[in-house]
Amino acid sequence: MSSVKLRIAIQKSGRLYEDSLKLLKDCGIDLKNGINKLKTEAENFPMEIFFLRDDDIPQYVEDAVADIGIAGENVIYEKNKKVTVTEKLGFGKCRLSVAVGRNEQYNGPDFLRNKKIATTYPVLLAAFLEKEKIPAEIHEISGSVEIAPGIGLADAIVDLVSSGSTLFMNGLKEVETILHSEAVLIRHPGLNAERMRILDKLLFRIRSVRKARHTKYILLNAPNANLKEIISLLPGMKSPTVLPLAEPGWSSVHSVVNENEFWDIIEKLTEAGAQGILVVPIEKMIL
Ligand code: ATP
Ligand code: ZN
Repeated sequence: MSSVKLRIAIQKSGRLYEDSLKLLKDCGIDLKNGINKLKTEAENFPMEIFFLRDDDIPQYVEDAVADIGIAGENVIYEKNKKVTVTEKLGFGKCRLSVAVGRNEQYNGPDFLRNKKIATTYPVLLAAFLEKEKIPAEIHEISGSVEIAPGIGLADAIVDLVSSGSTLFMNGLKEVETILHSEAVLIRHPGLNAERMRILDKLLFRIRSVRKARHTKYILLNAPNANLKEIISLLPGMKSPTVLPLAEPGWSSVHSVVNENEFWDIIEKLTEAGAQGILVVPIEKMIL
């Protein structure tokens, strides 16, 4: 057996930490808990895990110190390193947005013309200004961007937003979105075949876990008279499973439903005479 391990870099603490670990866990990858805060390895998968600051992850992956990494798209595109974005992961969602004082009259990007804009994302801001053909002064700071307008350091800011409460508390309003971001898996562009094979295994698991998260397994009892109508409401993976119940004239129907259509389907199923509806989570989904 080969001893090659896929080295993954994840955030050591912060907003992506829990979800990154949870993703590995849901993929059936158990980590050894040692005392080493910088790295560990998996017990049951050929993987080594490095814990790093999210901002450093693209560089480590470009340099092949790590083979793959998890970071926000905001960080990946700001750092602009030679890495391949391989898979969206569906967590760490946020927006990189322009915000201005609550009482400002914002009438589009032209508002920013020749203004001073504070940000920790100078590269993405410069690209936005370039695209809009608006000259402005980019004031790069390293943190607490949201206080910049209040202390007279800038006329506007570009910062990450999720709920908007930080902006609100600082008397700002969000007026323009530059980038929608979520956590993604990146890889070194030149991974060798052996490491690619491990990555493919990991991606297969990640996709199965993510599909399952949005899908529920549904079981219900249907009067045979309405079976056709009930089945037509259930898309299923191929087609629903139908089993006879001990009680004559009734069947048990099993299928999967998408989270988004869920309540809609349940209502229609009840109207069609379905009873004893059970809905259970799916752990993994292999298609
Ligand atoms: P580190 O010490 O690793 O540099 P950090 O302070 O830069 O941590 P966090 O605040 O933990 O980073 O954010 C990490 C990532 O989480 C961001 O780069 C972004 O992709 C994502 N994120 C999601 N929502 C938000 C939000 N409301 N504010 C900031 N980042 C968010
Ligand atoms: Zn960071």
